[in-house]
Amino acid sequence: MNHSAVASPRQAPMHALVRHIRDVPDFPGPGVVFKDLTPLLADAAAFAICIDALASPWRARRIDAVCGIESRGFIFGAALAHALDAGFVPLRKAGKLPARTIGVDYALEYGRARLEVHADALEQVGKPGARVLLVDDVLATGGTLLAARELIERLEARIVGAAVVVELGSLNARARWRGDVPLHAVLRC
Ligand code: AMP
Repeated sequence: MNHSAVASPRQAPMHALVRHIRDVPDFPGPGVVFKDLTPLLADAAAFAICIDALASPWRARRIDAVCGIESRGFIFGAALAHALDAGFVPLRKAGKLPARTIGVDYALEYGRARLEVHADALEQVGKPGARVLLVDDVLATGGTLLAARELIERLEARIVGAAVVVELGSLNARARWRGDVPLHAVLRC
């Protein structure tokens, strides 16, 4: 595996995380190397280090709500919301949320997808002008995170930043990401 950790004062624990990520070749299709984070989730110490590393850039920035992207973004996002003393807002695939939604359609590598959020999601957070952090497990081409950003911008929230566990550096999603909102990756692989 050719992993490199993002420079950080917590460098040693970050390197320890890498061995809890399993590369699964040709999943879900030929040529894709899937970053399987289930070994990391299953290891209590690794999961704790990961959530601490996800949270640390934002601790001093007062986050009111963490918006997690279905589905693995829910796992990390809910734990991150708890660590930051913030609420959690799910950004879901089409047709899953029960009340009135707004949505964004976006391109995937093959085909299209749609991300939705309850129209009153940030009212539920109970803080006008809520300060929001977006979170997902893996940043690949960046399309999903960009769609999440567009969706939350429509709710007129203040997006403080975006956080992912793994950034696939070779796909260069950062080139598509407007730098006025900081994007932090725990690991770049
Ligand atoms: P993208 O929109 O291309 O940045 O893809 C990001 C979304 O797809 C995230 O929600 C990931 O969970 C998933 N994903 C894309 N590529 C991978 C990969 N190689 N390993 C694991 N998850 C991936």
